[in-house]
Amino acid sequence: MSGNQRVLVVGMGVAGIAAAARLRRAGWAPVIVERAAERRTGGYFVALFGAGHAAAERLGILEHLHDRASVLPGVDMDRDGTTRPGMSYADMPGKPWLVLRGDVEQAAFATLPDDVEVRYSTTPTAIEQDAGGVDVTLLDTGTGETVTERFDLVVGADGLRSTVRELAFGKHERYLRRLGYMVAAFGFRGTPPGLAPGQAATLLEPDRSMWVFAFADHDPTILLSYRTDDVDAEFGRTPVESVRAAFGPQPAGSTLGAVLDEMENADALLFDSAEQAHVESWHRGRVVLLGDAAWCVTLFAGMGVSSALMAVDLLGTLLERRPGDLEGVLTEWEDGLRPYIGHYQENAPGDRRIFVVDNRAQIMLRRVIPKLGRTRLGKRLTDRIMRVDDVVKYKTADVVGEIMGRPPREERRVA
Ligand SMILES: Cc1cc2nc3c(=O)[nH]c(=O)nc-3n(C[C@H](O)[C@H](O)[C@H](O)COP(=O)(O)OP(=O)(O)OC[C@H]3O[C@@H](n4cnc5c(N)ncnc54)[C@H](O)[C@@H]3O)c2cc1C
Repeated sequence: MSGNQRVLVVGMGVAGIAAAARLRRAGWAPVIVERAAERRTGGYFVALFGAGHAAAERLGILEHLHDRASVLPGVDMDRDGTTRPGMSYADMPGKPWLVLRGDVEQAAFATLPDDVEVRYSTTPTAIEQDAGGVDVTLLDTGTGETVTERFDLVVGADGLRSTVRELAFGKHERYLRRLGYMVAAFGFRGTPPGLAPGQAATLLEPDRSMWVFAFADHDPTILLSYRTDDVDAEFGRTPVESVRAAFGPQPAGSTLGAVLDEMENADALLFDSAEQAHVESWHRGRVVLLGDAAWCVTLFAGMGVSSALMAVDLLGTLLERRPGDLEGVLTEWEDGLRPYIGHYQENAPGDRRIFVVDNRAQIMLRRVIPKLGRTRLGKRLTDRIMRVDDVVKYKTADVVGEIMGRPPREERRVA
């Protein structure tokens, strides 16, 4: 790779791995640094909508993935075990693929050439750029040693609380917006009591919910979500204490009870507040943010993985099309993506109601939706409630294919 332009990719999540692999294909020489001591392979349920699917296909990632959706219809349940027909995320408009975060991580990793250097237990501590390059100081947290190296481009793919963003753009407080909801995600070994293997379930109560995401060929994963007025207080206790308090004081019943018990023994419990990142421009000179670091849309939008893959796909293509014009590429890249990612962000607080409802009226509405959908008029109404047209345009369509098919900015202006 000597003679190629050097790119530092910070973060080895889905966004970082895919970016390194795609930029390598575009002729760059990537170095990946990851704060963790090893790959983070585990994970919770993620949906892959059409826009992400098309990007994954072009990136060579799709061939290493498969849809794990179960064919069993989902149920909606109460704590006392009463069940009625419910929904699975696979029923969402656009019929997304249901996979695990670790599936996409593994599939992206399979596309990463062996000659891409990966340094674990490494984090940037300073980023200085001039017209010709970026000097990045990297700390090896294992040995305590630091080294300063020069790169032609730095990609910050280091997640919601991005260090690259903090070093090159500014403090987290300036960019992060809390939605007022906490989430706990983890895997369930076996099948929760009251459910059949492969059966998805929702338990909806005002301001709190349990989702069981079921798969055809994998144990389910759980998502517990709840509203809070004080995110800091939620972080002030252990995750288990906070979640148990949020789902009390009523008796949990057998399914939710088993799920709460499982949380206490989960190998990898993700407990966090739902927060969006709003950054006015995703690139500054030779530093670009990508994925959750740039625009975290939150899990409520269901587009975190898809949007990261879309962004990588478009960036790689534009870098190939316009070598030597980094500023032009990054501007065109951001112009192309903004309307879509802006849409996911704007609608995420509304999409949140898919996961956690506000009141009993919304629960009742959820229960009648499947019945309404049986008549033509009712179907038109439910499509409106579910904003099906929006989903088709922004989530299901091959968004990047469409952006790439457009003439470049200058030609558009002339026309
Ligand atoms: C519960 C849950 C459910 C979700 N459901 C969906 C869904 O249905 N559909 C969907 O599309 N998306 C979903 N998402 C979002 C999705 O997982 C992410 O948007 C997506 O994985 C892209 O993440 P990323 O690679 O940008 O960041 P991350 O996955 O956060 O990866 C960032 C990486 O950077 C590393 N890192 C952090 N700081 C540093 C540092 N200073 N130096 C070096 N490395 C660093 C981290 O260790 C990590 O490996 C969900 C998220 C959650 C939490």
